[in-house]
Amino acid sequence: MPARPDLGPSPYLGYTASQIDRAVALRGDEAALESLAQEPSSRFYLIGGEPVLLKSADGAFDPLFSANEAHALGPARETVFLGLMDGAPRFGLGLDPAALEPLKQRKDLKITDLRSIAVHGLVVAAHLPPLAEAKALLGWHGRHRFCPNCGAPTRVVDGGWRRDCPSCKVQHFPRTDPVAIMLPIAGERCVLGRSPRFGPTMWSCLAGFIEPGETIEGAVRREVHEEVGIACGRVTYFASQPWPFPMSLMIGCHAEALSENIVIDRSELEDARWFDREELVLMLLRKHPQGLTATVPHAIAYHIIRRYIEEGPDVLR
Ligand SMILES: [Zn+2]
Repeated sequence: MPARPDLGPSPYLGYTASQIDRAVALRGDEAALESLAQEPSSRFYLIGGEPVLLKSADGAFDPLFSANEAHALGPARETVFLGLMDGAPRFGLGLDPAALEPLKQRKDLKITDLRSIAVHGLVVAAHLPPLAEAKALLGWHGRHRFCPNCGAPTRVVDGGWRRDCPSCKVQHFPRTDPVAIMLPIAGERCVLGRSPRFGPTMWSCLAGFIEPGETIEGAVRREVHEEVGIACGRVTYFASQPWPFPMSLMIGCHAEALSENIVIDRSELEDARWFDREELVLMLLRKHPQGLTATVPHAIAYHIIRRYIEEGPDVLR
């Protein structure tokens, strides 16, 4: 195969390249945040648990609501300050999922999940990072109304970036769960797996949560060994991606496979096998003779695989 096959322009890695200035210094200033929320340029992203609300008109979708439009749809459970977009305030507003039911009939709204919005490009890409920020942060609030230390109800402070316990005084900060996602490589071939959740032709990278007390490299080696029984040596970092389902950070790596025999953990994977680089090219170009594909272009797995196709085993240097 050519040293660097032409795969066309690289697609956007979903939820990355945020244009939001998080304006962290403003978070503690309650009066300033309240006045920002009243500004005419202020806009709100609306999230009801998993679903996201979009305005719908003439076949186009808009995720930004004015303060009046947002408050007309129901009471906010939490409002969080996301930052400034070109100087204009952006907030995330959490609605009770039960309040969405009557809204589903409305023709001027579309209520759908963030994955579908990203996969089908329902909104311009610049909205995906603030939507990810809002969804992950509001999801954290939804699961932390009570203090994990003493059980008392906690209260929101710092524009939604902290919850304080009035009883035991512990401060709680929003969390991000690190996930290692990797491609084990041996020269001109690599290992992909299939989750039972995947569509019938889709293959992707292996992945798993990084555990307490573990390095990224350690998690990569452990997960590959657990899922497919392959020992790994060198691990190189590729890139990361916010993954707000519910609040992960995907940490993409390439790993040097030191053994060959695959032993599949059937509780995690439906299948796993070796693929050579030429077969991966056909999968990414959607020209594979059996119709096999390699995940969706907005997900980091696609980009990890693509970088390996382009650079070969040099990705491990
Ligand atoms: Zn407490």
